[in-house]
Amino acid sequence: MRILVTNDDGVQADGLFALVQALSQVAEVIVVAPDRQQSATGHAITLHKPLRLSPVALRDGSPAFASNGTPSDCATLGILEAMGGDVDFVVSGINHGPNLGWDIHYSGTVSAAIEAAIIGKPSLAVSVASWEKEIHWKPVAEFAATLVRWLATHPLPPHTILNINAPNLPQSELTGVAVTTQGRRQYVDRIEKRIDPVGKPYYWLGGSLAEEAAGAEAGSDVRAVADGKLSVTPVHLDLTAYSLLPTLGDAVKAWDSAGF
Ligand code: MN
Repeated sequence: MRILVTNDDGVQADGLFALVQALSQVAEVIVVAPDRQQSATGHAITLHKPLRLSPVALRDGSPAFASNGTPSDCATLGILEAMGGDVDFVVSGINHGPNLGWDIHYSGTVSAAIEAAIIGKPSLAVSVASWEKEIHWKPVAEFAATLVRWLATHPLPPHTILNINAPNLPQSELTGVAVTTQGRRQYVDRIEKRIDPVGKPYYWLGGSLAEEAAGAEAGSDVRAVADGKLSVTPVHLDLTAYSLLPTLGDAVKAWDSAGF
C-alpha cells in the first residue's frame, strides 16, 4: 500500500511526523507538504507562479518533499508527480487545531483531502481539535492507520472523504468513536480594528465562537469531540441544497412561462 501524507501546518509539523510514524507501520509513506504554515488557506491553488518540490529530511532523517504551494497543490504534486499516480490513499494532517463543522470550508487540511478526492484518490483529513501546546497525537495517528487498513477492503464511494477530529486526550481517556454529521461553527466579533502609529486603521480577522452549544447538536462532529470521542464525518464534494430543488423548480417554471 502506498500513502501520500500532506498537511497544512508545514512539512516539519509535529502532527505530520506522528502520522508518518503510524502509517509507516501499514504502508509505504511518501510526504509532500507545504514548506511553511498554510493553515486556513482553504482550497486555494497556485496558477500564477512556479511550483517547486524540494527534497527535505524529517526529524528522524527520513526523506520528504517540501513545496512552496498550498495544501491542495501538495496533494496534486504528491499524487501526480512524486508518486506518479500510484497512490492508494492520501492522508492529510494531523492538523494542530479543529476542523469541525463549517470550519472545514477554511481548512487547508480538509482541502488537500478534497483535492485528492477530485483527482480520484481516497483520502482522510485528520485533526486534533485543540490549540493547546501539548497534543496527544498518537491515539488519532493509530486510528488513522486502522481506518486506512479497513478502507483497503471497504472502499469509500468516489468523491467522498472522511474528516476525522480527535479531542486532545490520551487513549485511556477517549470515550469512544462516533460517526457524525457536520455540525455548525460560527464566529462573532470577527474583526478587530486597531489604529497604526500614523493614525490609519488596520484589522485582524479572528473572533470567538458563538455559543459552542449551538453547533453541538446530537450526532454532530462538534458534539462528539466535546464528549471526548473520536469523530468520523463522511464528507462529499456535492454542496447542492437538495431540499430547495422543488421550491426553486416551481419558481423557475413560473418564470419560464411568464418569459421572466
Ligand atoms: Mn493547520
